[in-house]
Amino acid sequence: MGTGHNVSKPCLLILSALMAAPASLASPWEQVTTPSTQPSQAIGSYANGCLAGGASLPLQGQGYQVLRSQRARYYGHPEAIRFIERLAAQSQQQLSTNILIGDISLPQGGRFSSGHSSHQTGLDIDIWLRLADRMLTNKQLAEPQPLSVVNLKQYQLLKDNWDERHFELVKLAANDQQVARIFVHPVIKQKLCATEDGQQREWLRKVRPWWGHHYHMHVRLKCPQDSQNCKPQAEPPSGDGCGAELASWKPQPKPAAPKVAAAKPKKKKPKVMPSQCQQLLEDI
Ligand SMILES: [Zn+2]
Repeated sequence: MGTGHNVSKPCLLILSALMAAPASLASPWEQVTTPSTQPSQAIGSYANGCLAGGASLPLQGQGYQVLRSQRARYYGHPEAIRFIERLAAQSQQQLSTNILIGDISLPQGGRFSSGHSSHQTGLDIDIWLRLADRMLTNKQLAEPQPLSVVNLKQYQLLKDNWDERHFELVKLAANDQQVARIFVHPVIKQKLCATEDGQQREWLRKVRPWWGHHYHMHVRLKCPQDSQNCKPQAEPPSGDGCGAELASWKPQPKPAAPKVAAAKPKKKKPKVMPSQCQQLLEDI
């Protein structure tokens, strides 16, 4: 269970102070600086879980670089690290470019204090759509400039920023056995649907439209075999997802609002952290 028991009391005091803070301000997981020494396991669900025995992605390797390493979000389940290394080697060999890795997870996973709510189990990986044909400098890596491929206002592809290799990169990732889903902006999915002219369209099923993902794709891996407490997500609907469902994402002009009192928003129940994650925090 690691060597942390001796120092657990003062840490717990800090932790309880942090946990009393509003959710948007602090996450106790951000105070954790090293992975736990347990066997590797993704625990809980993608948006409510943690990571035991995390591995760190080396900050530079063949075919990739890590962005904003100062945030320490480059830890993942070993399957995630292997996936990134596979995809990066393929991009270098087949697409002659390097990929830029954004957020994966904190050293022991858990909630970020800013940004997205998933990435908690070491199985979610953001890969930027800015292709790095030339390696970035340390300064550029620390404060990277995103490259969007969508004109959000017009709901259209930014053709000047789109590169055929984007199609190939998403396809390479989607064809990886470990990948469960890839989130991209619906306009990007439209482009992928229109570009695939072969018979094999099964990979498109994994590519799911979601707002926000216009300068990066978010790759989500399946629960690894060693992770019995990992909660998988239901499979995406069958088919390539290029038809009516995709069309339904397109914003419609709003009809005149009927005059009815707005319903009170329902209060969300706070999520209960899996007990194994609670234990991890207590062991720090
Ligand atoms: Zn993400």
